[in-house]
Amino acid sequence: MKRRDFLRLGVLGATGAILGRVDLAGAAKKASGPLPFPAPVYRTLGRTGLKITVVSFGAMLTPEPEVIRTALDHGVNYIDTARAYMGGRNEEVVAKAIKGIRNKVHVATKIRSRSRTKEAMIGDVETSLRALETDYIDVIQLHSLTGRERIFEPEMRETLLLLRRQGKVRFFGVTTHTNEAEVVNALVDDPDRFFDMALVKYNFRSGKDMKKAIARAAQAGIGIVAMKTQAGGYTTDALGPISPHQAALKWALSDRNVTAAVPGMRDMAELREDIAVMGMRLTLADSLILRCYGAAVATRYCHFCGKCEETCPRGVAISVVNRSLMYAEAYGNPELACATYGGIPPQASAAACLGCGRCTARCVNGLDIAEKMGRARVLLA
Ligand code: SF4
Ligand code: SF4
Repeated sequence: MKRRDFLRLGVLGATGAILGRVDLAGAAKKASGPLPFPAPVYRTLGRTGLKITVVSFGAMLTPEPEVIRTALDHGVNYIDTARAYMGGRNEEVVAKAIKGIRNKVHVATKIRSRSRTKEAMIGDVETSLRALETDYIDVIQLHSLTGRERIFEPEMRETLLLLRRQGKVRFFGVTTHTNEAEVVNALVDDPDRFFDMALVKYNFRSGKDMKKAIARAAQAGIGIVAMKTQAGGYTTDALGPISPHQAALKWALSDRNVTAAVPGMRDMAELREDIAVMGMRLTLADSLILRCYGAAVATRYCHFCGKCEETCPRGVAISVVNRSLMYAEAYGNPELACATYGGIPPQASAAACLGCGRCTARCVNGLDIAEKMGRARVLLA
């Protein structure tokens, strides 16, 4: 069955096979004939002035450079990678994909969250430059901020300015999965407006506080790139053969304050599924799909809001443990899951959980957190 056949099916009448993204990708692979790529659609990344494609390339899960190169050959011009992805190898994949066309592509990578000193930050950037086989990084981002404090650290700012003076980086950004509204608001409230952009978790399950923060950022000339637009990308049988992933991507891009989204694309089938969204509008059918999908994954999807963490007597980093679990169970990426989990100090890992259940009462989603901590201990320890 071809992808367009899936899309013709009505949501409410859909029954039968269990298909998530992986299964849809498998079906798309079997589709005969070339699948058309749409004309690229661009938006401007805040005051950087970079005009980037609304569907850009999240490279974190992509093992083959050819997949990225195909996207670039069809007009995609922004790639998001990180020092931490694939144990450092992801930037090497990107390097192969951009060989010979470096000046046509904007590359964003990240300084690891544990690299806090000047030496460590410079070390990360130098390593990224070597791995990417490039002289400069277009957007360098501080990885995985969970609050406002880091944004104002003088040593960090001096180091980034030094790297810019040396021509090694062009623009500054941050990334955030937890407390993202607080982080984005801090960028706007910063009297120096030091940061040019933010890569944020933003999807149809996000709250009004995040929508407002994004609007403020756009008003202030801070570019917003959306990640985790699929709310975990969990599989479900609630939608029959309908994939929710295009609808989820359309939802994020329907917010004009979002410059672009960077869905992770593992292979050609996923690339085709995501890139097709370029220029599409969110429809009523999409909203229905997302309502069904959201309800189906509600007991699994953690917002990483961190609101439960203050109730924990052991100081367990619940949101990061849950993100690690999502990488293992929904993304099917044990390497990323273990790397993320390994970044948690041992005293705040799932091993410290007593199973007392106090945090569950505070969970905005009603998740059984103790049960998730137990699963993380088994899967990730
Ligand atoms: S169940 Fe675990 S994570 Fe939750 S409050 Fe108790 S010790 Fe903390
Ligand atoms: S478990 Fe619940 S309260 Fe805690 S971070 Fe996740 S969604 Fe937020």
